[in-house]
Amino acid sequence: MREAIGVDVGGTGIKALRVREDGAVLAESSAPTDRRAEAALAQIDASIAALDGPAVSAIGVGVPGRVDVRDGRMLSGGYVDLSGPPVRDRLPSVAGRAFHLDNDAVLALVGEARAGAAKGLATVAMLTIGTGIGGAAIADGRVLRGAGGAGHFGHFTVELDGAPCVCGRRGCFEASGSGTALGAAMRAAGLPPDLRAEDLGRRDDAAAHAVLDRWTRGLRAGVGTLVAALDPGTIVLGGSLGPAAAEALARAPEASPWFACSVLPAAFGSRAGAIGAALAALDPPR
Ligand SMILES: [Zn+2]
Repeated sequence: MREAIGVDVGGTGIKALRVREDGAVLAESSAPTDRRAEAALAQIDASIAALDGPAVSAIGVGVPGRVDVRDGRMLSGGYVDLSGPPVRDRLPSVAGRAFHLDNDAVLALVGEARAGAAKGLATVAMLTIGTGIGGAAIADGRVLRGAGGAGHFGHFTVELDGAPCVCGRRGCFEASGSGTALGAAMRAAGLPPDLRAEDLGRRDDAAAHAVLDRWTRGLRAGVGTLVAALDPGTIVLGGSLGPAAAEALARAPEASPWFACSVLPAAFGSRAGAIGAALAALDPPR
């Protein structure tokens, strides 16, 4: 069977996997992200070289930002910005192999749609909730690209005068619903730094419940807006906080039946992006 290496470049960590074409993970590595562009490129290159093998015929890389898929360039990024020349030309370890660069959330959804929670669904959306919030959608079997940058659901405005966002605006979904925002709210409330999002609701602690309630309302606003725009039928939640977000949303149902939608945690958890990167490199998504 064919093999590929998939690399998921997150704002916090770089995860690389060697994956077989059926989605099985054969080897993996991870490292904290150095957010400076040249350092991040060196990390990506080293992670590919470390997992490489004779059966590897393709390399896929997912990045947190806007991507021109046709020429493999990153157009802009929030936490990690590799915009400039085509990314494959800056990764010596890729030489001679097929290469696919894409938005990280698109690749997470491709992974889930080919072999995970969204398998068999022709129309589905995804939110990846971690350092920021990424988004992607597949409609009638095709990745929704719009004019090129569709899917940045993390930048839906959910509060007109909300917290500043990396995009330069205020009140974006990501500025209240991401793991970064949740961590800041927990610190501001004096909660223990090692407290997991999943445990907020299990504490006998009004401050923890208030933080969870506010995060959940932000998530519900973002999910409701996504359903209003695309009616995907199912939304898969990935990223490091995907399971906690799915649990929080299950306790706070949508208030209007107009925007009802099934919400599922990603089957591949925080590996979805790297698995999808590898599978997309072998067979590029439509
Ligand atoms: Zn924003």
